[in-house]
Amino acid sequence: MIVAQRKPFAEIAQSVSGFNRVLVAGCGTCVAVCLIGGEKEAGILASQLDMGAQIKGDECTFAVACVERQCDREFLDELAPQVAEHEAVLSLACGAGISFLAERFSDTPVLAGVNTSFIGINDDVGVWGERCRSCRDCLLSLTGGICPQALCPKGMLNGPCGGASEGKCEADPLKDCAWALIWERLENTGRLSNLEPIVAARDHADNLPGAQVHPAYERRYSAHE
Ligand code: SF4
Ligand code: SF4
Repeated sequence: MIVAQRKPFAEIAQSVSGFNRVLVAGCGTCVAVCLIGGEKEAGILASQLDMGAQIKGDECTFAVACVERQCDREFLDELAPQVAEHEAVLSLACGAGISFLAERFSDTPVLAGVNTSFIGINDDVGVWGERCRSCRDCLLSLTGGICPQALCPKGMLNGPCGGASEGKCEADPLKDCAWALIWERLENTGRLSNLEPIVAARDHADNLPGAQVHPAYERRYSAHE
């Protein structure tokens, strides 16, 4: 799932200043599960903004709406009547939902109420852990299901980096070295030979829409192709 964090209240209040009727739009999927942008959180934020406006003597009003997914056109259509009645929409969806909302209702200012953080999992109650950076070239088959892009601060594709000490990361000694974990996982499953081929540096040009990738950069795992 996509994990997000609510923006600081002062930043949100600043972004809605100047609008008299604002629709706070929650999303019922990922941001609801991580307790940041669902219907309940949208209601709380609207109340906070309302109180802030009253304290300042502003006449701004804040209404609440929530759809199942802001990244799905079918659900955005449900919002159309409410969007039409407001000067701006403050979205609590992830970046994809916010941008799709802005595209669908392009005549209405759409504001971001959250910072999209990462693709992750639920580690514990209310605790989320990053697991993927959506790199478009997944290495997990080679790395025992442990992502070095998400879990190694240097994003080492061929690790460890040399700074690891007793299985801990050079950049953060409180955390396990991602590559120590990868080694252990592969050793336990009899796949240490996965680490023999050198993984070529990423060509991030192929992340650009419509980009042509030069053949010289064609990769990748020679021993596995
Ligand atoms: S290698 Fe890591 S960042 Fe890339 S797709 Fe796989 S899990 Fe995601
Ligand atoms: S110690 Fe391990 S996790 Fe930390 S930066 Fe080096 S390779 Fe990455």
